[in-house]
Amino acid sequence: MNGGYMGKLLRVDLTTGTVTEESLPGEAILRKYVGCLGLAMKILNDEVPPEVGPVDPENRLIFMTGPLTGTPAPSSSNFVVASINYDVPYMAGTAHSHGYWGAYLKMAGYDGIVVQGTAKRPVFLWVHDGQAEILPADDIWGKDTHETEDLVKKRVGNGQEVSVAAIGPAGENMIHGALIQNDKNHTAAKGGMGAIMGAKKLKAIAVSGRRGVPMADPAKVLEVTEVWRNNIYAAESVGKLLSKGGITRVYGYVGQTSMLAGKNLSDPEWGVTYSSNIVEAAKEWWVTPVSCYGCPIACSYRVEITTGPRKGTVATLGGGGENTEGAAAMIGVLDPGTALWLTDLHDRLGFDSSAAGCSLSLAYELYERGIITKEDTGGLELKWGNADAAVELLNMMIRREGFGAILADGPKQAAERIGGEAPKYAVHIKGTGYNLHDWRPVWSVLLGQVIAGAGPCWQAPGVDAWATEPDLGYPEFTPGTTAEGKPEQVKKTQMKKLWEDCLGVCWFATWGVPKAIELAPQALAATVGWEDFTSDEAFQVGERVINLERIFALKRGMTAEHDLDVSPRLLEAPPSGQAKGKSIEPYLKEMVREYYRLMGWDEETGKPSRETLSRLGLGEHAEAIGV
Ligand code: SF4
Repeated sequence: MNGGYMGKLLRVDLTTGTVTEESLPGEAILRKYVGCLGLAMKILNDEVPPEVGPVDPENRLIFMTGPLTGTPAPSSSNFVVASINYDVPYMAGTAHSHGYWGAYLKMAGYDGIVVQGTAKRPVFLWVHDGQAEILPADDIWGKDTHETEDLVKKRVGNGQEVSVAAIGPAGENMIHGALIQNDKNHTAAKGGMGAIMGAKKLKAIAVSGRRGVPMADPAKVLEVTEVWRNNIYAAESVGKLLSKGGITRVYGYVGQTSMLAGKNLSDPEWGVTYSSNIVEAAKEWWVTPVSCYGCPIACSYRVEITTGPRKGTVATLGGGGENTEGAAAMIGVLDPGTALWLTDLHDRLGFDSSAAGCSLSLAYELYERGIITKEDTGGLELKWGNADAAVELLNMMIRREGFGAILADGPKQAAERIGGEAPKYAVHIKGTGYNLHDWRPVWSVLLGQVIAGAGPCWQAPGVDAWATEPDLGYPEFTPGTTAEGKPEQVKKTQMKKLWEDCLGVCWFATWGVPKAIELAPQALAATVGWEDFTSDEAFQVGERVINLERIFALKRGMTAEHDLDVSPRLLEAPPSGQAKGKSIEPYLKEMVREYYRLMGWDEETGKPSRETLSRLGLGEHAEAIGV
């Protein structure tokens, strides 16, 4: 093993206030789990027993890069944050982010950080050039993520580039769906990782360094990288689609395919107007693409709103569209400038807009239907499109005050607290918001969110929306609203995605990219020096990580029933649009069972068989999960 890794982890104990260096696990472990998601899951599974709860000091919060993070590989900016899932506590929570934080952590000399314990007072961590310090953050506590980044940079300014990952007030107050933001455009959004960080009273981690990432065969890495970069633009990959300014250029696709998550999924036709409004307005605005470390795509963007009621607003956003749908479309906000302003506000307050948005949109629909009134909402008029009320509600959620307290623990709990007919209108999977768009027209994506191993999140993109996967035998999109073939599409795309999530490159550099299935293993082989690393071994890494997530959840009491905890609204046939009249509900249970069978899991319990565990080198977990 000659490259890719810096060879060290930082262990930060916030209870004792100590920071120690540890060696990375040995080569045999690294080859099994590679890095990023895989290595973080391995450490989480080893160190966090099932009796530990999300906010207990014994819980770990793990920040992990991959062997390609910070190398010349395309979009080599990826890092993962993993812990117990705050929003779905019987599962792991895993969230990916990009920007510069992961690359700078490696340049500081570390592959990852394992945080344990709980600080007595707010602190932040400063990691730079082979050193790490825990510093007081009392004066930063309460600030939003952007203010925090600016203040921390000012405090640690060492004449070098610094990257900051921080929580906002939502994380500090341990609100459902709290995220971690870094570099202003990027969020580790899923699994409530911001709430875990808040429970540990860790406000931010700043990283900076000047070390280079070693590579076994630099010339070969550059050769593979050139082909890989060209291939990103050679087909209709997601990277090509979202390049140079993200969703603002191509949002029309979402509305036209009835995938826009608007008005609590009650009105797919409305989404056509919402998405085309954004595309048209963006032609007038100042949209500046923002790139991450080593990224030729630049899907993120800084936008100055130059028209409409939010004229003069500046927002810094990630490239996808689900953030604006959670923040704005789900509550019926049609003005495009207001939509982006609200999205930026969610990032600043530290809310995953997909999770918070599903709580808010439930309240708006219940209000519109007369199921709740101003008396319930503390005087707020929750009519579709009322953005000011949403701002007030978000702040009430942060303070757990009045009606905000009812919404603060996610859409499922909110619906149960409100009672009556409310659960019928909630939008959730396993109690939390999933990655919005409206996936009812594309059942492999929907199934992928349902069976994802870390709460609903992007693990199995399927092949009926956004990009095909010719490498997996799917050169064309498959029909969206049929059960046929979906479990297999989900299994294959999940194995590919979770392998890629171990590398340290952004998924947009691989999703639908021709030959990524060969190029990524070649890049890993040339970087680390594992010359015999093959695509088959890569897929086995992906499959191993899927199983490890399942093992972690089963040990924490997850059952097959939890995989069917999907809200009625998602199971309904949409009232209009391309999937009008088509419901996944009659097929879902059998689709999940078929997915289990294809994975080598028991079709009733969803438990991996002994044979599957042993084939993947996970046999030591058989007894703990009762197989
Ligand atoms: S594709 Fe977008 S999110 Fe991914 S690395 Fe590039 S700019 Fe960052």
